[in-house]
Amino acid sequence: MIIDIITLFDGMCETVLSESIIGRARRRGDIEIECVNLREFGEGRHRQVDDRPYGGGYGMLMKAEPIFRCYEHQVHKRGMTPYVIYLSPRGRTLHHGVVKELAEKEYLLLLCGHYEGVDQRVIDKIVDEELSIGDFVLTGGELPALVLADAVCRLCDGVLSDPAAHEEESHASGLLEYPQYTMPPVWQGMEVPPVLRSGDHGAVDRWRKKQSLKLTASRRPDLLRHYPLTEVDKRLLEEED
Ligand code: SAM
Repeated sequence: MIIDIITLFDGMCETVLSESIIGRARRRGDIEIECVNLREFGEGRHRQVDDRPYGGGYGMLMKAEPIFRCYEHQVHKRGMTPYVIYLSPRGRTLHHGVVKELAEKEYLLLLCGHYEGVDQRVIDKIVDEELSIGDFVLTGGELPALVLADAVCRLCDGVLSDPAAHEEESHASGLLEYPQYTMPPVWQGMEVPPVLRSGDHGAVDRWRKKQSLKLTASRRPDLLRHYPLTEVDKRLLEEED
């Protein structure tokens, strides 16, 4: 997986993506990420990247030409055509299904907006899809791009030490994850459920499935409506704790 992030704040993105699991995967070469500073493609002595919007209105808009030149530079450098995503509150809302689709791509290019956004013409010219991380507005596209890059990368081969790890997480199966516990067996008077210490793997699996089903039913009934419940699942849902 290759991910290029076009941003005015490459240092902000680089700092986050150099740490922890994603940082280690980059250093191993399992994924390749470049945070490209759009300012280098700015116009004139001041490397201008923004201007006032036609028709008036509040704030500045990112100009089309610097973004297009930056895009062309990366395409030429990589010798490949990326799937281009503009992070935008107007876009399709990100969820696990979208992340899975994107993890299948070879090369993603993420465009981070700033100020009031981006000249529509460069969106029409190079962007394949607009994606939002939720129904709220942030000051820039860097945090959404980092969220997206992190979520996509952890599905890529080699990134997680146990490739099966992400299959058990919330959303991967269509359900929310069951509660988890670690040492000590009793903390502040609260005990780890005895079944988890029983050594009976069948009973543990059953308990976990029941907790997942019940948690999803109470917190996210919308997810449960799309989940293919078996007869066993229906019985687990009806059981007392
Ligand atoms: N004027 C734009 C609008 O009303 O749709 C909002 C611009 S916002 C202040 C600046 C930039 O932050 C956007 O261009 C986008 O890249 C990013 N952004 C803000 N909220 C976002 C969200 N929920 N999801 C993805 N990107 C977001």
